[in-house]
Amino acid sequence: MMNVIEFFRNLPKKQCSTCGHAINEQADCYGNICDDCSHPAH
Ligand SMILES: [Zn+2]
Repeated sequence: MMNVIEFFRNLPKKQCSTCGHAINEQADCYGNICDDCSHPAH
C-alpha cells in the first residue's frame, strides 16, 4: 500500500511565475502566481 503522505511530499512544489516563491498548496491558486503577487493591493 502506498504511503499517501510521502506521495504528496514528493510532488514538486508549485512556484510563483512572478517572484519564484513557493505557492501554498492550500491557498486558492490563480494560475501560477502566489498570494503576494496576486494580491490586488500590490
Ligand atoms: Zn509571487
